[in-house]
Amino acid sequence: MPYDIDSVRAQFPILAEKVYGKSLVYLDNAATSQKPQCVIDAYDHVYRRVNANIHRGVHHLSNVCTTLYEDARQTVASFIGAADSSEVVFTRNTTESINLVAYAFGDKFVAPGDEVVVTVLEHHSNIVPWQLLCQRRGATLRVVDINDDGSLRLNQLADILSPKTRLVCAAHVSNVMGSVNDVHQIVSMAHSVGAAVLIDAAQSVPHFAVSVQDLNCDFLVFSGHKVYAPLGSGVLYARREWLDQMNPWMGGGEMIDKVSFAGTTFAPPPLKFEAGTPDYAAAIALAEAIRFVQSIGLDNIDLQDQKIAQQTIEGLEAIGGVRIFAKTARHAGAVSFLIDGVHPYDAGSILDKMGIAVRTGHHCAQPLMDRFGVTGTVRASFGVYTSEADIDALLNGVERVKKMFA
Ligand code: PMP
Repeated sequence: MPYDIDSVRAQFPILAEKVYGKSLVYLDNAATSQKPQCVIDAYDHVYRRVNANIHRGVHHLSNVCTTLYEDARQTVASFIGAADSSEVVFTRNTTESINLVAYAFGDKFVAPGDEVVVTVLEHHSNIVPWQLLCQRRGATLRVVDINDDGSLRLNQLADILSPKTRLVCAAHVSNVMGSVNDVHQIVSMAHSVGAAVLIDAAQSVPHFAVSVQDLNCDFLVFSGHKVYAPLGSGVLYARREWLDQMNPWMGGGEMIDKVSFAGTTFAPPPLKFEAGTPDYAAAIALAEAIRFVQSIGLDNIDLQDQKIAQQTIEGLEAIGGVRIFAKTARHAGAVSFLIDGVHPYDAGSILDKMGIAVRTGHHCAQPLMDRFGVTGTVRASFGVYTSEADIDALLNGVERVKKMFA
């Protein structure tokens, strides 16, 4: 075992909760992760001890809070290997980060006749903002398909890419399959035609080390709440040269230099993109969540995650009569499946009564469901506290569901 799961589990108060009188088996981490005591404490500390609006006051608490917020930005920057903390913009979540890029980058750099490329396995939040952008700008959305094993058809991407391509948007890890896309390759292919690249890292950042400089991407987005931080702590990484050229997408306090009716000038990035009072308590607690995962070690988390995914797949295959979506080379954080003859909603509801929380349905990835010709799947998704016993409980539950429908 790469690290002591029991001592990690002991740090998550919610894992002691009973569901229908049974121990909670929480396998819905791709939707949101649970929070360790240190993160709850960091959040609590802001409101109990230091709360005051940031960047505005000359008074003590405002300065303390501002320092904690800007330190959090630095912590995020080093966590994702950004060259400079000004390349980190705090948002509410992945969705807001993507919409920010669609408006602030897209409206400026995507012209009529241009193309934006996405993949068929994207979460809706990495599809719909690009459809809206293409409608606004008279551009075309192009879609890269997958192979039946869940891997991206990179040869098709090569055919789609052209001097008309302005932006390629791809998930690092599929939130449905847990498949890991070759984003290094995607970045170099896109850059070779002069297109920028946005990586949706919502499902990779919680499971293995991610470095924006190593990936050489233009934009990378993730949600703090999936990496043990509070809700409201989203991140947009953007290369400084883009942030300098992008227009603000929301106007208001904090993001200005000088306001007058003759015209307004803006603050330098990242503040230019943080209009209004941000959720500084969530951002400060995100820094604590990052220290928490770093204390376990991303490489250890990755190893344990792969072990758990393998146990899940081998167990499901041993049960038989279960279709896995899809059997990719690697599963990071999630395995999706269907039990033959059982609607995913029925499977999920029965598992729930056993205290096992899995997600059922389309997982905000309807185009991928269409690609597989199904309306939904059952998804088990993992976190740092997912134990072999959790997977044993899941497999036992799946066997019982199968028997009930036999
Ligand atoms: N992208 C991916 C790959 C996701 O898994 C999710 C959340 N399921 C999102 C985007 C959207 O995240 P949020 O709802 O936190 O904005």
